[in-house]
Amino acid sequence: MTDPAPVVNGTPQEVAPGVYVVPDGRVPLVPNVGSVLGDDAAHVVDPAMGPRNGGRVHQLARELAGGRRLLLTITHFHPEHGYGAQAFRDATIVVNRAQLDEFHDKAAGYLEMFRTFGPAVAEQLEGVELVEPDEVYDGDVHVLDLGGRRVELRTWGLAHTRGDQVVWLPEERVLFTGDLVEERCFAIFPYFPPEDADVDGERWLAVLERLEALGPAVVVPGHGGVGGVEVVEAARNYIAQLRDESQRLRAEAVPVDAAVEQLDASFRARHPDWVQPEWIGFGVRHFYAS
Ligand SMILES: [Zn+2]
Repeated sequence: MTDPAPVVNGTPQEVAPGVYVVPDGRVPLVPNVGSVLGDDAAHVVDPAMGPRNGGRVHQLARELAGGRRLLLTITHFHPEHGYGAQAFRDATIVVNRAQLDEFHDKAAGYLEMFRTFGPAVAEQLEGVELVEPDEVYDGDVHVLDLGGRRVELRTWGLAHTRGDQVVWLPEERVLFTGDLVEERCFAIFPYFPPEDADVDGERWLAVLERLEALGPAVVVPGHGGVGGVEVVEAARNYIAQLRDESQRLRAEAVPVDAAVEQLDASFRARHPDWVQPEWIGFGVRHFYAS
């Protein structure tokens, strides 16, 4: 079976007053895209991958925003989330310091890697430009005032990547998680040693506890359907089980390849309706190595 082309095809759905999500349609390498409207500015979360998807996201955002100025943030440096940023020439792009450092270290390498993922992916990456942000923030929290609406950018450092950033609307209790949380999709462990091993399952679990403690009413995951806090809980329960069972097999001196085979089959059976089971094994290898 061939995956559908990684193209943003959705139309904006209003998940809270003035808060919109362009759903991923469960298409691999398409993220959920957010637009948050204030009185003066509109804030876009993740421009998706490549100039044409970015252009589509920009067009949808501009239709919602009208004449408001645009702000763009990116949940983390992975290509399917941020490599459409070049379409946002008229926006102020804001990211956290760790994310920018990681982008500088890895963006070109990830671009080359993604170009090997087949012609449909390579096509979306044609003409891609790696865009520098306009503003970089240090620290854990950065507040955006959209005019009558407060948006908090929050980061806790290394988890799914070195610079994961969530977007939290404290009044509306809406949370955009990026790939810290997926819905009906196995957690993506980008564990590709020696090129990239910047993922930390333990810290990731701690971050998910923080996200639950925020008390979100609406959770927009990186990929999959919008829901409530139970979406975060399900993601955390899976990663905790993956950790516990990987560590148990390691303690029993089961070779890592055998552990991958065993846990891959086991978690597929437990979650027959979840997508991207290929990530189970990367997670097992990460927990074996950590
Ligand atoms: Zn990611």
